[in-house]
Amino acid sequence: MNAEIIAIGSELLTPDRVDTNSLWLTERLNAIGIDVRLKTIVGDDDLRLEEAVRDAIRRTDLLIATGGLGPTEDDITRKIFARVLGRPLVLDDTVLEGIRDRFRQFGLTMTSNNERQALVPRDAEVLPNARGSAPGLLIQHERTLIVLFPGPPREMMPMFSEQIEARLEKLSHGERIRKRVMRSTGIGESALDQRIAPIYGQYSNPATTILSKPGEVEIHLTATSETAEMAEKLLDELAGRIEDELFPAIFSHRGESLEEIVGLGLTVKGYTLATAESCTGGLVAKRITDVPGSSAFFLEGHVTYSNASKTRMLGVPDSLIAEHGAVSAEVAEAMALGVKEVSGATIGVATTGIAGPGGGSEEKPVGLVYIAIADDVQAEAKPYTLFGSRSEIRERASQIALDLIRRRFLL
Ligand code: AMP
Ligand code: MG
Repeated sequence: MNAEIIAIGSELLTPDRVDTNSLWLTERLNAIGIDVRLKTIVGDDDLRLEEAVRDAIRRTDLLIATGGLGPTEDDITRKIFARVLGRPLVLDDTVLEGIRDRFRQFGLTMTSNNERQALVPRDAEVLPNARGSAPGLLIQHERTLIVLFPGPPREMMPMFSEQIEARLEKLSHGERIRKRVMRSTGIGESALDQRIAPIYGQYSNPATTILSKPGEVEIHLTATSETAEMAEKLLDELAGRIEDELFPAIFSHRGESLEEIVGLGLTVKGYTLATAESCTGGLVAKRITDVPGSSAFFLEGHVTYSNASKTRMLGVPDSLIAEHGAVSAEVAEAMALGVKEVSGATIGVATTGIAGPGGGSEEKPVGLVYIAIADDVQAEAKPYTLFGSRSEIRERASQIALDLIRRRFLL
C-alpha cells in the first residue's frame, strides 16, 4: 500500500513553522508497512490545494492531509476536498452539538463561524477529536482512502493512533517495512557505489539509498515483507554481501556513530585512550567524550596548538620541530608517543595539520594533515590530503583519527 501526505497551511511554507506532522506520520505509516511516496506542503490557497488533491487521488492508495480544518476563513481543506470529490457539504448535527458542548464546557458562546467545522462532505466518516473542536474526516473515494486531520500535532497524533492506525494496518495486508543504516569511512561515495552497485542492483527489495557527508558514506537499506522477521532476513542477506565487498570500510551496521564503535572496541579490549590534538582543536576528544560512559576508557586529551605546548605537555623535542616543522610525520608520531607516555594510556593518537583557509605553502598545502597512532607495539604517522572548508578538514581529520583506532581492533 502506498501513501501521500499533504500538509496544509501557509505558515508551513515559512521558516516560522516546520511541517512535523508528515515526518511523524511517515514513521508511523512505515512501521505498518505503508510506503510514503510523496509529500506536498501547500499554503492556504484554493487553486494550489485543489490541484494537489486532484493529482494525489489519481495515483495514491492512501492520502492523508493535515491542517486547514479550523473555523476561520483561511481554513479551506473541507471546502476543497468536497469540490474535488464532487460531494456537497452537509451540516452534521452530531458534530455541531459536539462543538456547542465544548463551548458550553468552557463557558463561551459559540461564534457562527464555528458551525463551519460541522460541515462534512457527503458520505464522509467523522473522526471525533477529543482535544480540539475540529473533527477529522475519513472518505473512501474510488480506490483512494482519504484521511483529513486537524493541524495541531497534539490533536492529530492521538487521533491517528486511536482511530486510524489499526484500520490502516489491516488494509496494508500486514506488510512490514524494516530499515537498516550502515556507515562507512575511508572510501568516497562514487568509489563505494562502483563496488556495491553490481550487488544491490540485483535487489529491488531491499531498496538501497546512498548518502554522503564529510568523511563518511551511509548506505540505507529498506526491506518490505509480510513479517518483520522476513524483512530482517532480506536486510541481513544484502547487508552481508555489501559488508564483505567493502571490508573494512563499514564501521557500523545499525547506524551507530564511529565514536560509539570506537568506545565499544576500547571497552571490549580493556584499552585506554589519550589524545594530543593540534589542527583538530579537541574535536577527537569531544567526539569520544560524546559517548556515554567514556570515562571508562578515555584518560585525557591535550590541545597542543603552539610548538612550545607540544614540547612542554608532550615532550616533543624542540629540535624535532625545528628540523621537520610542527606539521610533519615526525612530530605527529612524537605527539602520539608523548601523550601515551604522559597519560599511561594503551593508545595515543595525535593530529597536526593545516586546516586553512590560510597558512598553506607549496610544500605543505592547506588540507595536509598528519595523523599518528601509538600503542605498545608500534607507532606510525601518515599524511592525508583532505579537502573542503576549515571545519570539513577538521571533521575529516577527526574521522580518520577515530578510524585508525577502530582499525587497530581489526588486526
Ligand atoms: P490548522 O488546523 O490549519 O488550523 O492548524 C493549526 C496549527 O497546527 C497551526 O498553526 C500549526 O501550529 C499547527 N500545524 C498545522 N499543520 C502542521 C504540520 N503539518 N506540522 C506541524 N504543525 C502543524
Ligand atoms: Mg491553518
